Amino acid sequence: MSANTLPPSLTSLTSMAGRVVTPDDPDYDSTRTVFYGGIDKRPSAIVRVTNVDDVRRVITTARTEGYELAVRSGGHSIAGHSTTDGGLVIDLREMSQVDIDPKGRTAWVETGATAHQVTEALSEHGLVIGFGDSGSVGVGGITLGGGIGFLVRKFGMTIDSVLAAEVVTADGRVLRVDATHEPDLFWAIRGGGGNFGVVTRIQFRLNPLPHFTGGILVLPATPESIAGFAAASLAAPEELSTIGNVMPAPPAPFLPAEIHGRLVILAFIAFAGDDEAATQAIAPFRALATPIADMVKPGPYLAMYPPEDPNYRPTAVARTMFVDSVDISMARTIHDYLSKSDATMRVAQLRVLGGAMARVPADATAFAHRAKPMLVNVAAFYQGDAERERRRAWVSAFARALQPRDDGAYVGFLTDDGQGRIRSAYPGATWDRLAKVKLAYDPDNLLKLNQNIPPASPGSR
Ligand SMILES: Cc1cc2nc3c(=O)[nH]c(=O)nc-3n(C[C@H](O)[C@H](O)[C@H](O)COP(=O)(O)OP(=O)(O)OC[C@H]3O[C@@H](n4cnc5c(N)ncnc54)[C@H](O)[C@@H]3O)c2cc1C
Repeated sequence: MSANTLPPSLTSLTSMAGRVVTPDDPDYDSTRTVFYGGIDKRPSAIVRVTNVDDVRRVITTARTEGYELAVRSGGHSIAGHSTTDGGLVIDLREMSQVDIDPKGRTAWVETGATAHQVTEALSEHGLVIGFGDSGSVGVGGITLGGGIGFLVRKFGMTIDSVLAAEVVTADGRVLRVDATHEPDLFWAIRGGGGNFGVVTRIQFRLNPLPHFTGGILVLPATPESIAGFAAASLAAPEELSTIGNVMPAPPAPFLPAEIHGRLVILAFIAFAGDDEAATQAIAPFRALATPIADMVKPGPYLAMYPPEDPNYRPTAVARTMFVDSVDISMARTIHDYLSKSDATMRVAQLRVLGGAMARVPADATAFAHRAKPMLVNVAAFYQGDAERERRRAWVSAFARALQPRDDGAYVGFLTDDGQGRIRSAYPGATWDRLAKVKLAYDPDNLLKLNQNIPPASPGSR
């Protein structure tokens, strides 16, 4: 649909700098596709915004014409929040500029950039921002949710490197947000997700990373190696962050065929320090069992983000939780559940936290779970609705067996878990403060396609 044939309710989007993709556009289907499979929503228009003014105009159109509004950076929302049936999508992928000040060790990054794009741009300067374990995740989504990745123990969460942001609010104002300008909003966007405005640019402090050792280590999974892996990760120096995926071995070329389908720990090891210290820190992991594959070596951090298949569209059910440790009895539970499921892919992902992340006070940002020692995600892939319900029941039972209490949640890994779990992500005073910030900046909840924090009642201002 050309701009002059837009329906009357969308004529305000004519002569935008960015492209307006409507259902009759040949690129409509590819543009509306998001990362997860099984999400098949049909927006009235997807606007590939190119500047702040475009963003403002789409927000204003959604507000005045009554369209549901979705915001998309990398499109990896696990709950499918970055698209809408019949509404408008602000698609930030064209806004992916990375402006680096290597001397001042800061960068302004447009939020449509991916973790890989930013990491690549920074690599020639020996500088880094810690994002997550996937290079195709968008800077917008991961940063606003918090960001827990390969460098979390050394440099903290992604939000711990945020210095400032540019935010377009629901009433169309463009705000500079930092510790002195709009400080409550600055607090809220560091962990509170996309509730408070459309964030177009973020200024990050850059971390020097002159030496790095990392890669994949694959070990046989037994209750002993699983508990040993967790214990070694907890005892490791904070230069070392690990992500241990207990899962059936995928049919990857680096794994012998006879291992495919057998339970392994497929671990990402990341050491932010010199080679000798890395060898020492990684030795306890290599000693847990004879490695099936060991690709951990000194090299550029960028190698942690290998090329991804752009057509990969998994369908999965998942549950996220925090635990204190994985002792031998919990490791047995993990091994039992994963051994007994026949899902083509099922996983318990273990992420040891602590280090720099835990030194930030719990109320300094909207991510309050600073003291939690470990994050665990369990997931199962499925094909079709019938299998989905079976896998969902398995995931729930598995999660309950590992963590019977609702002891918090990381918003970045929540799916459509319901309002109770959103509150678990933001315990006590954090929730109350977020609801007040929401009331101040989005009182009508225009931005509700997210892990939603409804505005506090006006009397509580
Ligand atoms: C394969 C995979 C691996 C992952 N690994 C990690 C990991 O290691 N660590 C981790 O912390 N998380 C991880 N995540 C979770 C991920 O951080 C969240 O799903 C995140 O929201 C995705 O960001 P996105 O920009 O790609 O997604 P999108 O779907 O584009 O955005 C998700 C939501 O964020 C909000 N949003 C996004 N951009 C903006 C913006 N510019 N302004 C306002 N609101 C915005 C919107 O509410 C949107 O619905 C992973 C997810 C996947 C699918």
